[in-house]
Amino acid sequence: MPLTLRSKLPDVGTTIFTVMSQLAQEHGAINLGQGFPDFAIDERLSDLVHTAMRAGHNQYAPMPGLPALREAIAAKAERLYGHAYDPGSEVNITAGATQAIFTLIAAMVHAGDEVIIVDPAYDCYAPAVELFGGKAVHVRLGADMRFDHDAVAQAVTPRTRLLMINTPHNPAGTILRDADMKRIAAMLRGTDILLLSDEVYEHLVFDGEPHASAINHPELRERAFVVFSFGKVFHATGWKMGYALAPKELMAEFRKAHQFNVFSVSTPMQHALAAYIADPSNYAQVHALYQAKRDRFAEGMRGSRFRLLPCEGSYFQTADYNAISDEGDRAFAERVTRDHGVASIPLSPFYKQPRADQRLLRFCFAKRDDTLDAAIERLCRI
Ligand code: PMP
Ligand code: GLN
Repeated sequence: MPLTLRSKLPDVGTTIFTVMSQLAQEHGAINLGQGFPDFAIDERLSDLVHTAMRAGHNQYAPMPGLPALREAIAAKAERLYGHAYDPGSEVNITAGATQAIFTLIAAMVHAGDEVIIVDPAYDCYAPAVELFGGKAVHVRLGADMRFDHDAVAQAVTPRTRLLMINTPHNPAGTILRDADMKRIAAMLRGTDILLLSDEVYEHLVFDGEPHASAINHPELRERAFVVFSFGKVFHATGWKMGYALAPKELMAEFRKAHQFNVFSVSTPMQHALAAYIADPSNYAQVHALYQAKRDRFAEGMRGSRFRLLPCEGSYFQTADYNAISDEGDRAFAERVTRDHGVASIPLSPFYKQPRADQRLLRFCFAKRDDTLDAAIERLCRI
């Protein structure tokens, strides 16, 4: 008898990050696709990991995370966003932001619940909702890739369980501001809708703007899981270390799922991070580093036929290629990788229904200056 397999995700293929990184490797292209830095982490941070390993911190960490790390995180959040989460009951260390997102959806979304997702959306959101029987309700960013409050408000129904927001935004590179957060708070007031605020790029906000965290708003944070990633802040995406903050009633539910999902995450990494983030100077200048890279890339690309969209945060620059080609974005991104030696990420995979006439690629500028310069030279020749 042949095996009958009923896929739970029949419409899902391999993530575009893997597809484009593989293509980049096959063709020896400069990889400005998948978002990861190509420079080293601080040696002091790797020394702290080695020290923790040599000190014997190699067994399971406590289920919600190492107390010292949870305390350091709570102190950091209070310093930056003015609210003291309780490290015991409101902070949880996760295997990257991805596991935090997956776990909170597992814990919170019941079959038939609607979850509002704003496209273009990071690609792990909708599949997680669907795996747990939820219904992803897709709305779009509005003009200039900005949050469209009216479109989101119109998508709310009595079945809405969760709204997912992301600032700075991947892939758009735009940010939410305090006024946006206030409007979102007003929209959710009086409802039981939960909020997932994906703030993994909290330290990558440019041009002197503050990061508008959901934590700053009491009405939002009382219904919010706020999710972060050490990978982005410390140039260590391969560590897959992150965390979630939430009020204790929400976090108690989160932990019910977390304990059977991963139980706990890497012990020596947690020891190292606890020591490292206690010193704010280890992350205070991250925005300056990336703002300089954003500017270098934008300046170089002025000599190209790409038209860059505003980048207010994140380490991604979106670029319109209408002046170059009317190919679909996937085909164009593949051709640029193959024929011109620069990999990027097409934007259409971040949409439930991509617009047929949208011609946008995303370039990651979290790269050494010489990598950026070499890529710019190639892109200017297209
Ligand atoms: N959310 C967004 C918006 C991201 O860009 C990423 C990864 N770059 C994640 C979540 C996942 O983060 P992590 O690698 O820590 O799982
Ligand atoms: N978050 C990274 C990006 O947006 C990639 C993460 C991944 O490969 N899953 O490119």
